[in-house]
Amino acid sequence: MQDILDEINAELSSRSERGKVATYIPELACIDPDQFAMAVVLADGRTFSAGCADKLFSIQSISKVFTLTIALGKLGDGLWSRVGREPSGDPFNSIVQLEHESGKPRNPFINAGAIAIADAIMMGHQPKETLAEILEFVRFLANDRSIGIDENVARSELLTGHRNASLAHFMASFGRLSHPVEQVLGVYFHHCSISMSCQQLAHAGLFLVADGVNPSSGVKVVSAQRARRINSLMLMCGHYDGSGEFAFRVGLPGKSGVGGGILAIAPGKASIAVWSPGLDTVGNSKLGAEALEMLVKRTGWSIFGN
Ligand code: GLU
Repeated sequence: MQDILDEINAELSSRSERGKVATYIPELACIDPDQFAMAVVLADGRTFSAGCADKLFSIQSISKVFTLTIALGKLGDGLWSRVGREPSGDPFNSIVQLEHESGKPRNPFINAGAIAIADAIMMGHQPKETLAEILEFVRFLANDRSIGIDENVARSELLTGHRNASLAHFMASFGRLSHPVEQVLGVYFHHCSISMSCQQLAHAGLFLVADGVNPSSGVKVVSAQRARRINSLMLMCGHYDGSGEFAFRVGLPGKSGVGGGILAIAPGKASIAVWSPGLDTVGNSKLGAEALEMLVKRTGWSIFGN
């Protein structure tokens, strides 16, 4: 595994075409695109990495996997009356479908869906309490208490988040939010601004590798059925309107973020985190997807077989 990761790192480090960093969140626009990291945690807990795998980056929409897991824990199947589970085929921040579908977001991973999830998990609590709960859950999953929120990124998102504010107000106009829009957006922007390294992220994804149980600690995080369902949503919706392409090329459940990270799950085998800040045209890490494609080719880990 270490040889494979070293090869991928060496091959990708010479690439000049690395995509473009997200600029609509000003704080992310100043990240050096020439960075790459990858970490693989096998089901037995052994960890391998390449590149700057301890460097913190903004996990952005990858956090939606964790908030979805919390929401399912709180609401169970009741969650599906608030958010759907179909791929959107639209950009991550699209407002178009919402109008046709009476303010019910297509899935938990597009921005509107994640905003609806943030609202669902607040359950009458203040944004600070909800954020503390999300952060605590992520720290528990990664077994790392140092994980925190980058307040500069959160502030930057808040100042420029007109599109997300529109989505939230639009949903509120259909009576779909139970808390004030500003509070829900505060929770959403802050959980997107969690900073993690590839090492931490790969550890946090481990419960989705082994039927909901963290194989290294033996702790059951969710039921086997729930883990399977979260993985299926990641496969179908985890890369926005690039989800089909990602499934075609990589063949693993995965969730990307505009910070350039991707968390991918090889069920029964490994949790994989990769980071390269340059994005492709639909907002997914360009080299990150390539690295996963190379990894799957060499390991035969695609869920569709070798
Ligand atoms: N916080 C970002 C936004 O709302 C998340 C988008 C992403 O990572 O895809 O625009």
